Amino acid sequence: MSLIVQKYGGSSLADAESIKRVAKRIVETRKAGNEVVVVVSAMGDTTDELLDLANEVTPLATGRELDMLLTAGERISMALLAMAIKSLGQEARSYTGSQAGLITDAKHGSARIVDVSPTRVRAALDGGAIAIVAGFQGFNRGTGDITTLGRGGSDTTAVALAAALKADVCEIYTDVDGIFTADPRVVPNARKIDRITSEEMLELAAAGAKVLYIRAVEYARRHGVTLHVRSSFNNNEGTLVVNPKEGESVEEPIISGVAADLSEAKITVIGVPDVPGKAAQIFTLVAATDANIDMIVQNVSTAATGLADISFTLPKSEGARVLKALDDDKRLVGFHSLQYDDQIGKLALVGAGMRTNAGVSAKLFTALFEAGINIEMISTSEIRISVVTRADTINEAVRVVHSAFGLDGEEVAKVHGGTGR
Ligand code: ASP
Ligand code: MG
Repeated sequence: MSLIVQKYGGSSLADAESIKRVAKRIVETRKAGNEVVVVVSAMGDTTDELLDLANEVTPLATGRELDMLLTAGERISMALLAMAIKSLGQEARSYTGSQAGLITDAKHGSARIVDVSPTRVRAALDGGAIAIVAGFQGFNRGTGDITTLGRGGSDTTAVALAAALKADVCEIYTDVDGIFTADPRVVPNARKIDRITSEEMLELAAAGAKVLYIRAVEYARRHGVTLHVRSSFNNNEGTLVVNPKEGESVEEPIISGVAADLSEAKITVIGVPDVPGKAAQIFTLVAATDANIDMIVQNVSTAATGLADISFTLPKSEGARVLKALDDDKRLVGFHSLQYDDQIGKLALVGAGMRTNAGVSAKLFTALFEAGINIEMISTSEIRISVVTRADTINEAVRVVHSAFGLDGEEVAKVHGGTGR
């Protein structure tokens, strides 16, 4: 008997009909002789609607109360789904995050899982029932309060339960057929990837691929959980995200995919004295804001002035905070001025095979050059090359790079009109 954890996203649970459809699918999995644990997101756009509602009441809601509010979304889904399953003659029991033993730290809005003790879930399975767990939420022992794991956190709940219960697979059901070589809305003939390593998936997720949340992939990688990302609207095989063991050789394509991200901005610190310690000062100030910075580039200082410029990228939502922090200490650091640019796009090319394959960057830069696209920043890891371009050229950049690396497929990918969530 296999133990399968299935996670259904909000787009798969949009209304009563969808809930009944998903219930059928779950019952089929159970009847095929598997133990089934289901993790649910809130129905459709419920989480956004609850946030809007809170904002109408007050823009100053505290983390504790916001978490109390938002966790209600997943509780609605879990109860309705359990009812739907029972009406099909199968035993089902729903559990909140805290009932399911998801213990977190106390950070409201972005809590981290510190312990998972799914005793009640295990008991439900032993009693022959299907266990339904509300995603995206936990409980802090110190404060005794309910927490949420941050937007998209239900993926992480599913992976954490799969790890704790030693599940055979964690299936992530969404409204697209799996992970694609590029966003099918940008590259219509992008191909579905059958199998990808979690290492590559992490790079793609970090580079803006939105089908899976990065924290869930990290958790799966650390605990050796196999993920299967697939559509709840058909029975097609999706994408397996696997964790090859150390030394295990896998046939790796040179390039797995291309991702793009338009949510970042670039800050340039102009006229930084070219002496030891300045980068340390600047990034200590940035770190104190808790911002998530990504690419960093420092140009060579001109001999005449002894001044250099340092640029870095960060989420647009963190731009204002970081600019202020730097500006507050402008005198101390001794730089000349700050420049903010939110019209950038970031493209990342990912593939484990590029580790052993020369010429990948040359091919990438050539493809962009031939399309007349200017590269503003470059950074690399072992299995990724990222470039920054103007925002309005990013889609074209993705298309030419996808094509240059032979990733274009024969068919036009089916997009079910959803967001991939
Ligand atoms: N409902 C939450 C959100 O929309 C959690 C999730 O969907 O995973 O962010
Ligand atoms: Mg959602």
